[in-house]
Amino acid sequence: MTENEEKEEHHCEVCGRKISKEEYETCDGLCWECWDDQMTEECEFEEDII
Ligand SMILES: [Zn+2]
Repeated sequence: MTENEEKEEHHCEVCGRKISKEEYETCDGLCWECWDDQMTEECEFEEDII
């Protein structure tokens, strides 16, 4: 499923916007904004973010 990943388009699972592979992998399938929103809500991970 990942052999053509560089040519695939990824979309945020929350808002549906097109995101890069880096965003997809780093943000667990979300765009930066939705990921940031989620991380803000899940404060328990605040020390692990980047
Ligand atoms: Zn999003």
